[in-house]
Amino acid sequence: MNIYVLMKRTFDTEEKIVIEDSRIEEEGAEFIINPYDEYAIEEAIQLRDEHGGEVTVVTIGGEDAEKQLRTALAMGADKSVLINTEDDVEEGDQYTTVKILEAFFADKDADLILAGNVAIDEASGQVGPRLAERMDIPYVTTITNIEIDGETVHIERDVEGDVEKIDSSLPLLVTCQQGLNEPRYPSLPGIMKAKKKPLEELELDDLDLEEDDVEMKTKTIEIYLPPEKEAGRVLEGEVEDQVKELVTLLRDEAKVL
Ligand SMILES: Cc1cc2nc3c(=O)[nH]c(=O)nc-3n(C[C@H](O)[C@H](O)[C@H](O)COP(=O)(O)OP(=O)(O)OC[C@H]3O[C@@H](n4cnc5c(N)ncnc54)[C@H](O)[C@@H]3O)c2cc1C
Repeated sequence: MNIYVLMKRTFDTEEKIVIEDSRIEEEGAEFIINPYDEYAIEEAIQLRDEHGGEVTVVTIGGEDAEKQLRTALAMGADKSVLINTEDDVEEGDQYTTVKILEAFFADKDADLILAGNVAIDEASGQVGPRLAERMDIPYVTTITNIEIDGETVHIERDVEGDVEKIDSSLPLLVTCQQGLNEPRYPSLPGIMKAKKKPLEELELDDLDLEEDDVEMKTKTIEIYLPPEKEAGRVLEGEVEDQVKELVTLLRDEAKVL
């Protein structure tokens, strides 16, 4: 079975983020595999172990994404592909990403494509479904269980805390949700093996794409951090006076009464 994983290198939202000129400052930021893509990688490896075939992890980004690709290989993926857009594309959006992935998959015989449910940085959740639409294959989002039984795929998906059961068929694209599995940590032998596994590098040209073909359709006007929370106010004095003061504050300052 040909299994592909779409992986995005994202900054770690647990770290302090600095925004300058409406862009996230990459200098000094920590970068990781998008956590939802870790579920995708883990599931791909388990499905390959059960059904045979190989797992290829694909990312669009710059040279720096090699580190996250090597981590995916160390977890157990067989091959990786970096579609390096550093020299060709200055700005892009979800259209750009999907257009590039669509061109990549044009000559592939993919049985199953696993993506993250959402990227924790820009969080549009668009890439998986949009790619499946372009490839004209079925897709199921936010999956928490998947079993392949011949041509039939049994899926459970998260619907706001409830479970929806769906049957679909291959080829298929799914987006992975927390609860699907427990992603493994790369082992030392895994890390050693990963150094020798294939990491193919492609550019737009290799996919028969020009810069104009991937020109973004949306423009980010501004990115800003939420205002810092003000310290809470502690009321003092007799309880009766505190209640009066609280009601006054809620009415005159917070304007919620
Ligand atoms: C060439 C290029 C230039 C860009 N330039 C800018 C820019 O100038 N400013 C800016 O703010 N953003 C830029 N981006 C990022 C882009 O706007 C979005 O981050 C991207 O389209 C994905 O959208 P999202 O983050 O909302 O992902 P979601 O749709 O939330 O991601 C869902 C899943 O899609 C897959 N996926 C998402 N992105 C990738 C990827 N790059 N490679 C492989 N799989 C992926 C992953 O499986 C992920 O879990 C650029 C992207 C590209 C490819």
